[in-house]
Amino acid sequence: MPTTQTNKGNPLMIQSEIDALRGKVLTPRNHFIDGCTIPSNEGRTHDVLSPIDGQVLTQIAEGTPCDMDAAIASARAAFEDGRWARRAPSERKKILLKLADLIEKHALELAVLGVRDNGTEITMAMKAEPMSAAGTFRYYAEAIDKVYGQIAPTAENVLGLIHHAPVGVVGAIVPWNMPMMIGAWKLAPALAAGNSVVLKPAESASLTLLKLAELAVEAGIPEGVLNVVTGSGRVVGETLALSMDVDILVFTGSGATGRKLLEYSARSNLKRCYLELGGKSPNIVFKDVTDLAQAAKVSAAGIFRNSGQICVAASRLLVQADIHDDFVAELVENAEAMQVGDPLDLNNHIGAVHSLSELDANLEFVKKAQVEGAELQLGGDQILKDTGGYYMAPTVMTGVRSTDTLFRNEVFGPVLAVTPFETEEEAIQLANSTEYGLSAGVWTSNLSRAHRMVAGIRSGVVHVNTYGGSDLTVPLGGVKQSGNGHDKSLHALEKYSDLKTAWIQL
Ligand code: NAD
Repeated sequence: MPTTQTNKGNPLMIQSEIDALRGKVLTPRNHFIDGCTIPSNEGRTHDVLSPIDGQVLTQIAEGTPCDMDAAIASARAAFEDGRWARRAPSERKKILLKLADLIEKHALELAVLGVRDNGTEITMAMKAEPMSAAGTFRYYAEAIDKVYGQIAPTAENVLGLIHHAPVGVVGAIVPWNMPMMIGAWKLAPALAAGNSVVLKPAESASLTLLKLAELAVEAGIPEGVLNVVTGSGRVVGETLALSMDVDILVFTGSGATGRKLLEYSARSNLKRCYLELGGKSPNIVFKDVTDLAQAAKVSAAGIFRNSGQICVAASRLLVQADIHDDFVAELVENAEAMQVGDPLDLNNHIGAVHSLSELDANLEFVKKAQVEGAELQLGGDQILKDTGGYYMAPTVMTGVRSTDTLFRNEVFGPVLAVTPFETEEEAIQLANSTEYGLSAGVWTSNLSRAHRMVAGIRSGVVHVNTYGGSDLTVPLGGVKQSGNGHDKSLHALEKYSDLKTAWIQL
């Protein structure tokens, strides 16, 4: 490959630079507590495998309850002495803007590190991970010195002031897909609002967030304000969630873990829990779609980019019966043109599945769907086995009924379930017939229908004549069992402060 090759969407990326970074030997990583890198108190580590080739990439600290308690104590001390919380918002803004600059300066290094850790194709990772994280820190930094309190309309002899007070210690638990982007969605508003944070990344995607914590201190965030503890959810995640000294929990991950967090909250200090969970998002194509070819192209990207490992992946295609065969054929053609392979090769459109267990689970879903009567139109198998990595072909299954496992359950892999429908009412009914409500898509040239669909579909976001690609200005959150609360937009700030009333007799 010529060393000057760049990627059009990301002109910063040059293949030779990516290749140089991918060869970098990674020393084992410790926790980041109180501004220092600290090993597990029992000295234990665990191997990090790269999904690119299945080889050991490095080791990270295997956290213990003791490690987590130390991080929480550090965050609590930092909060109580006001080293960050009592700084003027304009000062916090300056430091967070500097952090955004530092992330951008290290963007390629962070993107390659993240891809080696979790397998996302570099073309997507660069934009969605460091560049998105930098943008998120910038957004909340710029916002925080524009947030005012209120004066209540009281009688003349009293003054009712409504302040936004930081909540205290925020526990943040994030998944392995898009860790920087999702991490920044939590960290940036939490820090901007003056809180201290203890972050627990997924055990299999911690590396970029550990680096981010180092950059935060370099930018000027005081020691103890941002701590990162690595290790298993069952041990350090549970310790964080059960802590009496953590004031709120913000979480992105599976519904099963979300359920446990609510339980831990009830068993401890009733901390608020904001949950961003899974989805099984319907993408609905009507026969009056304006541009069938464009809809098929976007729909294929909507499920297959990042091997389908995106919470809002368009994993259920509902297509009006009259155009079913034509649309599926067009979508399959687009999917076939998407090249799967080494995620650090700029030529590839789709990288690796995150882990062997995820890959096996995806293949199991395909098998079960076939047993239940669905037809395999494309893919369905592991590919590129000789690389040692975990790769799966984009998979399209038709004839999926609303009672089938593949229709109802999140795969979190590159598997598309296709179901035909006849009428608008049926489309809404099918769209709403899972426990999830995270995202949806509607393709139609009829404006009235578009509005009716937006109103009728129960989900946090409904895309019309597009899928994905929204920016930081709008909230992302789920309804039903896709969660509560929202990341992104100014609304996210609401989670990270308490309303505090001062009632003053004049
Ligand atoms: P997961 O629930 O297995 O893990 C998420 C995090 O929770 C990890 O850090 C893990 O270590 C931790 N954890 C696990 N058990 C825990 C416990 N008992 N106590 C405390 N922490 C615990 O999810 P995952 O497999 O990492 O991520 C995939 C899921 O995340 C999918 O369901 C996907 O849809 C969802 N997701 C949702 C969004 C969104 O914005 N709604 C975004 C991305 C991913």
